[in-house]
Amino acid sequence: MSRTPLAASFSPDYTSARARFRAGALALGCQMASWPVDQKGPDGQELTIDLAILGDPNPKRAVIVSSGLHGVEGFFGSAVQAALLEETLGGFHPGPGTAVIFLHALNPFGFAWVRRVNEENMDLNRNFLRSDEQYTGAPDGYAELDPLLNPPSPPPAFELFLPRVGWMILRQGMPALKNAVAGGQYEFPQGLFFGGHSPSKTAQVLDAELPKLLGGCERVVHVDFHTGLGKRSTYKLFVDHEWGSDGAEALAKAFGADVVEPWEPEEGVSYAIRGGMGSWCKARFPNMTYDVLAAEFGTTHVVNVIRALRDENRAWQWGKRDDVASIRATAALREAFAPGDPEWRHACVEQAVHVVEQAIEVISA
Ligand SMILES: [Zn+2]
Repeated sequence: MSRTPLAASFSPDYTSARARFRAGALALGCQMASWPVDQKGPDGQELTIDLAILGDPNPKRAVIVSSGLHGVEGFFGSAVQAALLEETLGGFHPGPGTAVIFLHALNPFGFAWVRRVNEENMDLNRNFLRSDEQYTGAPDGYAELDPLLNPPSPPPAFELFLPRVGWMILRQGMPALKNAVAGGQYEFPQGLFFGGHSPSKTAQVLDAELPKLLGGCERVVHVDFHTGLGKRSTYKLFVDHEWGSDGAEALAKAFGADVVEPWEPEEGVSYAIRGGMGSWCKARFPNMTYDVLAAEFGTTHVVNVIRALRDENRAWQWGKRDDVASIRATAALREAFAPGDPEWRHACVEQAVHVVEQAIEVISA
């Protein structure tokens, strides 16, 4: 028997991941829906965000498990959902008034095309601005880094990237670099971490559909799966609470003080972001206690992640789809966000399933 059975939860592409999700949900008797995003995949297939509800369709207390807000990161999130539907939750019946709600492939375009962003080059976790916020601006330092991050040419066969980034880190410090790079920007539509100029299709779908699902809810624990941040094969749960606040303390108690971390620069692994889905959900549903845990699973060093993002974006913006350089850049991006190593896959899905079990305990208490 394989030592890494959960590695088999991964699907090779968006279409098979979606089919597997729907089959697993159907087998558990979930209520289901598909929301089109008016985009097509590489094989001309319709792309949808898929919903499955296990338990009460009008819940008072719900766990939401979402995948693929960052496209390519959906390989992992979808694998977690497959493991839950096919294994962990088999025979599980949420109590009266409770439900586990699955959202599959929040950015189906990015998942299908193996990009982190959507059809408009938007980083969707920078796109959820609240109604009082403007889609303008960029962090201090982004404009200076733009020529390094977003050269207007396809990736060359060979390039000395690491020394240039190493020099930047020395000069600015890692937290400052992370903030400048990853905080979200609204001025460079072809650049990395672009938050868009208006609400994305995904934001519109969630804005229209989530209130129908959560109308009677009092408590939501939403686990949104991501990869590419933090130490390999470990995870952190980033939350929209301040350090030391009651909300942060309660989540630390439920999920572990060593993994729960408020979104905050300087201190920890993450960086200050604008337009995050978590703060938007909280603001969208002020009459319930709505916690979003951005579950970030580490894959490789941040410099490798940035490099993979940069090369893939260059290839997409300036190269041709079937060039060797483009194919190589796509493969590298996929490896940076969904490593092929079965040990990584098994260990991370196992930990992710455990996080969802903890979330179910919170709403069942
Ligand atoms: Zn992500």
